[in-house]
Amino acid sequence: MYSLFNLLGLYLWLTLVWCGARSADQVDSWGFQPHKLINRHAIFTLPPAMITFYKYHINYLSEQAVAADRRRYAVAAEGPRHYIDLDYYGVDVPRYWEQLLAEFNGDSIQEHGLLPWHLVTMKSSLIQAFREKNARNILRISADAGHYISDAHVPLHTTSNYNGQFTGQQGIHGFWETRVPELLIGEFDLWVGKASYRRDWYRDLWEIIIESHRAVDSVLHFERALTGNVPEHLKYSYELRLNRITRVYSAQFTSSYHKVLNRQTERRMRAAIKAVGDFWYTCWVESGQPDLLSIIPDNASYTTDYQNVEDSVWRHHVLFR
Ligand SMILES: [Zn+2]
Repeated sequence: MYSLFNLLGLYLWLTLVWCGARSADQVDSWGFQPHKLINRHAIFTLPPAMITFYKYHINYLSEQAVAADRRRYAVAAEGPRHYIDLDYYGVDVPRYWEQLLAEFNGDSIQEHGLLPWHLVTMKSSLIQAFREKNARNILRISADAGHYISDAHVPLHTTSNYNGQFTGQQGIHGFWETRVPELLIGEFDLWVGKASYRRDWYRDLWEIIIESHRAVDSVLHFERALTGNVPEHLKYSYELRLNRITRVYSAQFTSSYHKVLNRQTERRMRAAIKAVGDFWYTCWVESGQPDLLSIIPDNASYTTDYQNVEDSVWRHHVLFR
C-alpha cells in the first residue's frame, strides 16, 4: 500500500526526471489564440459570486492561458502534462495514479503523457488556493488548469500519432487546432451557457478524453479523403508571416475540412469552454464557496480591463481580438 506522500514524491520525481520524449514544437496545443479565447469565454459561464473576481482579472487569465505551453520550451517536465496517448495505454487504462504505477513503468508514463493525473493535482491546488483566498494562486492555477482541460478536448492530444507522422499527414496537428480557428473563428458560436457543479468531476474528465480519442479516426480520415480529391496546389497556399513566405493549408481546403468534420473544432472548443468553467466552479464549491469579492483590490474600479471587456462583450458581442 502506497502512502500519499510516497505517491506524491514519486509523481514529482517522475515529473522532474522526464527528459523530453516529445519536443514542445511538436505538440503545441490549440494555438495560442484559441487557448486565450477558451479561458476568456469560460469566465462568462461563472455564477455571480465568482464572475466579478474572474472578470476583474480577465486579461491575466486570457494571457496566461498559454503559459503552460511556453513553459514547455524551458522545462522538460512540462511536456507530458499536455497529452495522453490512449492508443498506447488503451481506453481501460487505470484511472488512478497508484494503479497506473502498478501497471506501467515511470519512463513509459513520462513518454505517453500525464494529462488527467496532472489535472488531479491541479484540482487539489485550486481548492487549496480558494480556501486560503490566495488571489495570486487562484489565478495562476485557474489559468493553467484551463489550458490542460482545453488540451484534453483535442483529439490529437490523445494519440501517439499526434501530428500524423505515422500516417503521412505531418502538419495535421496545427491544421486542426490552429489553422481552422485562425480562419473560421468568426463563424464559431462560443456562448455555452452556465457552469455546472460536477459531482464526479474526474469521471467526466475521462469521458472528455475518451470522446477526444474516439474522434482521432475522423480527424485523420477526412484530411486524407479531402487530400485525395484536391490537387496539391489547391491544398496549400502561401502567406507572408514574419517576413517569410510560408506554406499554409489553403482557405478552401480548411473550410472544406471544417465542413466535412461537421464543425468538430468548434464543437470541441465549445465543450472546452464549458468544462473549464465547470472546473473552476466545482473547485470553488468544494472549497466552501469563499467570498471572492473580498480579494479584489480596494482600488478596483469599473474603468480598467473590466470596462473594456464589458464594452467588447455586450456592445459588440465578441471576445476575441
Ligand atoms: Zn498544451
